[in-house]
Amino acid sequence: MREKVAVIGSGFSSLSAACYLAKDGFDVELFEKNNEIGGRARQFKEQGFTFDMGPSWYWMPDVFERFFNDFGKKPSDFYELRRLSPGYSIYFGKGDKIEVADSIDKIADVFDEHEKNGGEKLKKFLAEAKEHYDIAIKDLVYKPGVSPLELVTPVTAKKVNKFLSNIDKDINNMFRDERLRMWLKFPVLFLGAKPSDTPSFYNFMNYADLGLGTWQPKGGFFAVIKGMESVANSLGVNIHTNTNIEKINCQNNEVDSLVVNGETKKFDKIVSGADYHHTETLLDRKYRQYSEAYWDKKTFAPSSLLFYVGFDKKIDGMEHHNLFFDVDFQKHADEIYKNPKWPDEPLFYANFTSKTDPETAPEGCENGFFLVPIAPDLTDTQELRDKYFDIIMLRFEEITGQKIRDHVIFKKSYCVNDFKADYNSYKGNAYGMANTLMQTAFLRPKLKSKKVENLYFTGQLTVPGPGVPPSLISGKLVAELLMKRS
Ligand SMILES: Cc1cc2nc3c(=O)[nH]c(=O)nc-3n(C[C@H](O)[C@H](O)[C@H](O)COP(=O)(O)OP(=O)(O)OC[C@H]3O[C@@H](n4cnc5c(N)ncnc54)[C@H](O)[C@@H]3O)c2cc1C
Repeated sequence: MREKVAVIGSGFSSLSAACYLAKDGFDVELFEKNNEIGGRARQFKEQGFTFDMGPSWYWMPDVFERFFNDFGKKPSDFYELRRLSPGYSIYFGKGDKIEVADSIDKIADVFDEHEKNGGEKLKKFLAEAKEHYDIAIKDLVYKPGVSPLELVTPVTAKKVNKFLSNIDKDINNMFRDERLRMWLKFPVLFLGAKPSDTPSFYNFMNYADLGLGTWQPKGGFFAVIKGMESVANSLGVNIHTNTNIEKINCQNNEVDSLVVNGETKKFDKIVSGADYHHTETLLDRKYRQYSEAYWDKKTFAPSSLLFYVGFDKKIDGMEHHNLFFDVDFQKHADEIYKNPKWPDEPLFYANFTSKTDPETAPEGCENGFFLVPIAPDLTDTQELRDKYFDIIMLRFEEITGQKIRDHVIFKKSYCVNDFKADYNSYKGNAYGMANTLMQTAFLRPKLKSKKVENLYFTGQLTVPGPGVPPSLISGKLVAELLMKRS
């Protein structure tokens, strides 16, 4: 008889794990508490507008390709992908913006305009970033974080110093222009920590950004989830939505059964892609590996205040992705990590997928997604959401010189309380646990429980870390670990 595996959650990590396990011959059932799959990458449609609820930056296309190739498929079997040009825009003030071109040579020209020898310095910086990217993909991110030794290779040994220095320092040493500095510090924010707390080695994110480029799947990020669902279905994964896992029952250090919507079901093995902290709370206390104090001390990636907005007109001058870095970057970072509080003057990000994918808004309209990164676990009230909506609408209007506020015909907000309620997210984090030096690889929460023999974890709180590509990889790693021990 085939071994029965339950997979909890339907985000990228859970779907990935389910596909690999089903391919290897396990009988896989996947349980998602919400009424649709995708986890943080869910999508909703309202009044003719389509909104991806979470991820929007499609970086590291090679990782997506590798996932689908593992099942004899390619991304283009499921969605059309195109490189955005420009990749994104950064606003530093009224009439002061940089457009990020789609080739390193063109980007180097922009660096030259802002700083003497800027282009040459950029190319040097990116050459090292590429070297790190290649090492990361080949020697680091596809490792299960079981032992520190798995990270030691002749190549990585030469890079130890790159884990002891930080990106903030490197960029400040190399570049003088404050705009260029902010631009280069932006990609590591995806790793969830401040650039000054992110090891230099992680400048591979700059290569992912400027070297490999920003891509967009037609139909939005949810098209990737639908592609993975197709693969899962073709392999016989049984997907259940509206099924909340209420309890993980153990006996003699083994999972015996799950309580699913009030019903007890037996499984041989469990993989949870739900937030790691939440999954542990489903166990009796003696089976939990990490204390509340452990979680509390960890650096979590930010939460976010999000607005999904429908406009009754086209918004002028915007790109698909737009960063508003017209205020103090360091101050906002401190308000996330050092002295957690609602930011006085928030940086924010806006995307308009209808710019490149007209089907995501009614004719003549535009859909907008606005994101303000904030510290996890801040007080979340309707008044605060309204206040920040006013702030960013006003700033947007001032900087871009156009009225948009009066053109809002649909608006939905999403913040800390929703992350907790919808995803059982620890402190309402948006994208997991940060990748700082002390939270890298084998120092992250483990893929396999140390206390419960047949319980495994995947997703953005374990290895390799936050973001869609790492979540895809995490599902593969946990499946491989489980198969090895079967
Ligand atoms: C606003 C936002 C913007 C982002 N932007 C980007 C981006 O541009 N690019 C990028 O690469 N990444 C981005 N990310 C990060 C990326 O979305 C995540 O890292 C990734 O989707 C996490 O996948 P996961 O499988 O680990 O977790 P999730 O997607 O959170 O999946 C976990 C699932 O478990 C389910 N669950 C929880 N508890 C239970 C239970 N008891 N029973 C059953 N099911 C349960 C949840 O409902 C959820 O569906 C963003 C995230 C957010 C929130």
